Amino acid sequence: MPTTTPDTGTLYVVATPIGNLEEITPRAVRILTEVDLIACEDTRHTRKLINHLQITTPLTSYYREKEQYKAELLLQQLQNGVQIALVSDAGTPCISDPGSVLVRQARGAGIPVVPVSGPSALITAISVAGLEQSGFFFAGFPPSKKKARKDFFKQHAALPCPLIFYESPHRIQTSLLDAMFALGDRQAQLFRELTKVHEEHRQGTLSELSQSCAGKNRGEFVVIVDGAELTAPDKPEDIDELILWYRDQQNVSLKKAVQQIAADLDIPRTKIYQRALTLWKTGPTDPER
Ligand code: SAM
Repeated sequence: MPTTTPDTGTLYVVATPIGNLEEITPRAVRILTEVDLIACEDTRHTRKLINHLQITTPLTSYYREKEQYKAELLLQQLQNGVQIALVSDAGTPCISDPGSVLVRQARGAGIPVVPVSGPSALITAISVAGLEQSGFFFAGFPPSKKKARKDFFKQHAALPCPLIFYESPHRIQTSLLDAMFALGDRQAQLFRELTKVHEEHRQGTLSELSQSCAGKNRGEFVVIVDGAELTAPDKPEDIDELILWYRDQQNVSLKKAVQQIAADLDIPRTKIYQRALTLWKTGPTDPER
């Protein structure tokens, strides 16, 4: 393991507000004031924050596309004794934000890496979600490409704990719909504009929440979806059995069952609809059958 020399700088990883500018710790303000340099995603964005805090520390950009290159430059500065604070546009760096390349390199070079904790949209949402379990799975942003996004939700379908993801206003409705097809029409919570003036919380099934996002959306979102039911019997693979399973075990509508089966088996809905219509009318399945 590399040893730390006394004259290297320290890398402070500093959380900044996710909306409400009052939410910054006195320690974060002191560190941002005392360091020689603040590395940030967008200097214009961070300039507004430091101007508000009356901090005059110089800024340098550190953004995703140049992460590798900038990390090397910043590492050299740290090795030469420069004290650096790393911030992102909002919340905690390295949580769906750049930072981890520099953190890894600094640690590898024996530079002290110090967290200055504070807000994160993930933890803020959990703090007011009233989750029954203490465990959760945070998946970051779903991929932007349609197929990858569908696969992403399918990969998380069996999780027995809540699935938490971030989403932007222009993709929130599509993501909620894709989640519904992959996970079933589970209960979920939507948090918008946390800590800001227009903060909002919505709760309902994924299809209800998706409908509530029809049209133009504003703000930023955290979504928490209930985990898979541990007691749910295994889904059958045969179409007829699957239709009856959705009807009798899941108690969903014919339309929703058809949508789900089409997604489960990756076949067009038209191939299922007629068969589902026939089976739907046969009445409840006899458990002794
Ligand atoms: N590093 C940040 C953190 O610690 O939460 C997250 C950065 S990520 C690029 C930005 C995403 O976080 C947004 O698209 C949104 O999903 C979520 N987010 C950030 N601020 C939020 C807020 N005030 N309300 C709801 N979601 C927010």
